[in-house]
Amino acid sequence: MHVQVDLDLCQGHGVCESEAPAVFELGKNASVTVLQPDPPEALRTAVEAAVRFCPTSALRINEEE
Ligand code: SF4
Repeated sequence: MHVQVDLDLCQGHGVCESEAPAVFELGKNASVTVLQPDPPEALRTAVEAAVRFCPTSALRINEEE
């Protein structure tokens, strides 16, 4: 599982950080930093919730990588 973020879409709402704080961190510039681009399967549920609830649909899970 590889997490991709489109920083052109991210508006720094921080929903992703709330859902998966081990994977996403909101920086001072109001855009997200992906702490773990390839998170372990144990975090899948949290990452999927972050993807689903991101208000700007800036997050994707790429299963190929
Ligand atoms: S939830 Fe979406 S818009 Fe908000 S910080 Fe995360 S990626 Fe950016």
